[in-house]
Amino acid sequence: MLVFEAKLKGSDEQYEKLDEAIRTARFIRNSCLRYWMDNKGVGKYELSAYCAVLSKDFSFANNLNSMARQASAERAWSAISRFYDNCKKNASKKGFPRFKKHQTHGSVEYKTTGYKLSDDRQTITFTDGFKAGSFRLWGTRDLHFYQLNQIKRVRVVRRADGYYAQFCLDVERVENREATGKTIGLDVGLAHFYTDSDGQTIENPRHLRKSEKSLKRLGRKLSKTKKGDALSLSFAERLVEKGSKNRIKRRNRLSRKHLKVSRQRKDFAVKLARCVIQSNDLVAYEDLMVRNMVKNRKLSKSISDAAWSAFRDWLEYFGKVFGVATVAVPPHYTSANCSNCGEVVKKSLSTRTHKCHHCGFVLDRDWNAARNILEIGLRTVGHTGTLNASGDIDLCLGEETPLSKPSRGKRKPKE
Ligand SMILES: [Zn+2]
Repeated sequence: MLVFEAKLKGSDEQYEKLDEAIRTARFIRNSCLRYWMDNKGVGKYELSAYCAVLSKDFSFANNLNSMARQASAERAWSAISRFYDNCKKNASKKGFPRFKKHQTHGSVEYKTTGYKLSDDRQTITFTDGFKAGSFRLWGTRDLHFYQLNQIKRVRVVRRADGYYAQFCLDVERVENREATGKTIGLDVGLAHFYTDSDGQTIENPRHLRKSEKSLKRLGRKLSKTKKGDALSLSFAERLVEKGSKNRIKRRNRLSRKHLKVSRQRKDFAVKLARCVIQSNDLVAYEDLMVRNMVKNRKLSKSISDAAWSAFRDWLEYFGKVFGVATVAVPPHYTSANCSNCGEVVKKSLSTRTHKCHHCGFVLDRDWNAARNILEIGLRTVGHTGTLNASGDIDLCLGEETPLSKPSRGKRKPKE
């Protein structure tokens, strides 16, 4: 699935109508959630049928294109099924589905009807009951390479700096690349963005630090303004600037900054991920979800964690595109074990150097971890180790590892 995004250029009156559509989509999603909570045994099909009931009972719901209504019900269902999955897996956070509140951002998803894209891909016209009309599209050059019938979904997204259309195309992107014969393990740290199994480090991008500071500053400024009920104002009311004017201004500035940070993060992640994938045949890294529980609770939710998870998403994306194996390995013992002899060498978080008292091996802490990560990654995909030529690899992973011992000796050819 490929996604292209374009900014929608229209009048304020038109934007207000898009807002109504977004509000309606949220209303349907929330109503479906409520219906599921109040009635036992409600599943995907019942929610889908409930859409029809809603559109009869509420005229504004009827304004939304019928497939967009279905898409909203599907969103409710995906939140519910995610919750069910977490219950089955007995995850620590179950994520009970929540109602979406009225916010200054949101989205509505159209499938193949309810809009029309012009042949030159310059204009999109929404044809459902909200009558939002035609918008100029900014930044759709890439759309020209594809047929209109390849567009499976169009999502209208409201952000701090305007309205966007995302076009989801049913295309598998596959690119050829020469095998490099190289494999790499990545360890995420605090000091560096990552350290790889060859000892190379990538620094944390400086703009992330800067942004973190200014986000905090803007957040403080916002909390000083009068709350009022600025958020409950409609789009039109906000245009004539009723309510706490200062707060609206501050909030908007903060959201714009958030937007900027996420764009910078994406830019950094895309470039780095593409580079790592193109120069390796296998990339191994820690499973971040597990990592947060295991390593350091203070680390979670920080801005660099967000950068890492964006990076990981792009690694996996480019991995598929270029046919490179990507392996997320369980993080247990990756920094404790000696990457030379496999013995456990316990160390505190502040110990920066790995010194093995079994074999005398000394290496930077993160570098050692990256070597372990690569080793586990290689086993997972059915290779044997490459780090120790002697073949004497035993990482003492304990009982927590689901991995079987590697067969030693011959390296299996890549399929
Ligand atoms: Zn050792």
